[in-house]
Amino acid sequence: GLELRNIVKNFGAVEVIRDVSLAVNDGEFVAFVGPSGCGKSTLLRLIAGLDKPTGGSIAIDGKDVTAIGAADRGLAMVFQSYALYPHMSVRENLAFGLENTKVAKAEIETRIADAARMLEIDPFLQRRPGQLSGGQRQRVAIGRAIVRRPDAFLLDEPLSNLDAELRVSMRAELAALHARLKATMIYVTHDQVEAMTLANRIVVLRGGRIEQVGTPLELYNKPANRFVAGFIGAPH
Ligand code: ATP
Ligand code: MG
Repeated sequence: GLELRNIVKNFGAVEVIRDVSLAVNDGEFVAFVGPSGCGKSTLLRLIAGLDKPTGGSIAIDGKDVTAIGAADRGLAMVFQSYALYPHMSVRENLAFGLENTKVAKAEIETRIADAARMLEIDPFLQRRPGQLSGGQRQRVAIGRAIVRRPDAFLLDEPLSNLDAELRVSMRAELAALHARLKATMIYVTHDQVEAMTLANRIVVLRGGRIEQVGTPLELYNKPANRFVAGFIGAPH
C-alpha cells in the first residue's frame, strides 16, 4: 500500500500542499480532483519521489519512497506534459527503460503491440513525438507507462487532450486495464464523469488541502460542503 502522512510542500514561502494524509490500498483506483493550482500535480510528483516534501512522509509498503531507488519503486508516471523523448521514435519511446531489464525481447514486443492496439497508436510507431498531435502524444505517454507493468500508475490528466469519442473509448480501456493488471491507479482529472465512473475513491482537493475523500456514491450523496457538491455535480 501507499501511505501519505501529514504531507506539506512549500515553494519558497508559498504552502502548496498543506497537511495531506491519505492511505491507498494496493489495486485501488483513486481519483484526485480539484481546481487548477490546488496541488494535484505536485502531490503526484511527491508520490513518485521526484520531489521531496517539506514535511511529512510518503511510504510504499512501509518504506519511505526516497529510500527506494527510482527503478525499484514500481511506479510509472504519465506527466501532464507527456515528457516524451523527442529524438526517439514512438516505438523507441515505448521500449525505452525496458530494454536493459530482465524483460525478454519477445515480451517487450508483445507489450508494445498490445499497448499500441489498445491506444490506437499503431500507425505512428515509427514517427517521432514532434510529428504527432497532442492527443496522439498523450496516448504514447500512457503507452510508455503501460508497457512497464508497474505496481502503481500515477496519471496526470491522461485523457485531457482527446476528443469526446476517444476519451470515452480510452476511459473504457483504462477501466479494463485496471481490472486486468490489478495495479494501483492514482488518477488526476478535471472531468467528474471520469472520476465518478473510474474511481473506487475520489479525493477532492482545494488550496493544497483535502476537502473530502470518499467513494463516488458517498461524495454524490453526502458532499461535505458546497464546494465538493459543485465539483462532483451533486445537487446542493
Ligand atoms: P492544474 O490543474 O492546473 O494542472 P494542479 O492542481 O496540478 O493544477 P500544481 O501544478 O500542483 O497544480 O501547482 C500547485 C501550485 O504550486 C500552483 O500554485 C503552482 O503555481 C505552484 N507550483 C507548482 N510547481 C512549482 C514550482 N516548481 N515552483 C513554484 N511554485 C510551483
Ligand atoms: Mg496539474
